[in-house]
Amino acid sequence: MKELIFATGNAGKLKEVREIFGESYKIISLKELNNSYDVIEDRLTFEENALKKAREIYELYGKPVIADDSGLEVEQLDGRPGLYSARYAGENCNFEDNNRKIISELKDFDSPHNARFLCTAVYYSGEGAIITTGALNGTIIEEITGVEGFGYDPVFIAEGYNKTLAEISREEKNSISHRGKAFRKLKDLIIKSGL
Ligand code: IMP
Repeated sequence: MKELIFATGNAGKLKEVREIFGESYKIISLKELNNSYDVIEDRLTFEENALKKAREIYELYGKPVIADDSGLEVEQLDGRPGLYSARYAGENCNFEDNNRKIISELKDFDSPHNARFLCTAVYYSGEGAIITTGALNGTIIEEITGVEGFGYDPVFIAEGYNKTLAEISREEKNSISHRGKAFRKLKDLIIKSGL
């Protein structure tokens, strides 16, 4: 089976992407490679950050790599946290700190708090890159609700739903999510390219 290294340290993303690639590819995590390398995400777009992660990990192992960069944009916060979604509440913050910060920032705004998740996924094999994107529209609620998923899932309700992403199964989240869309397209293009 063809192997792809997934350049992430996020266990939630890893589970989602493994499910998307299913039986066709073996997705190897950085953890399995005993690699705790944290690629510094200092670029100005999701695409540049995703490419940076993929290239740096490729340089270490010389094997095809997939990577993504993703984040949440909240309309009433002028698109924040955006590129800074992972560490929005500070350098050593956790997911709950970030959710509390978003909720407190939205206190003075009327509902609905429109928002969207964005994901750019990348495949890099040394010869070239394949890049895809996905988005998921929804709203932010002012209470942390649900235990599934990761990140802002407990405060995000996808369009057409009345539950947060943290209250639905991983399979259902993958079927509608920004990451699901980006990585399904990526998988199809990898297969078509014969890489
Ligand atoms: P990065 O892509 O590793 O830079 O991390 C992006 C950050 O955006 C994550 O740490 C989460 O806080 C947030 N994020 C991205 N995708 C999701 C998602 O599917 N659910 C919830 N939060 C997400």
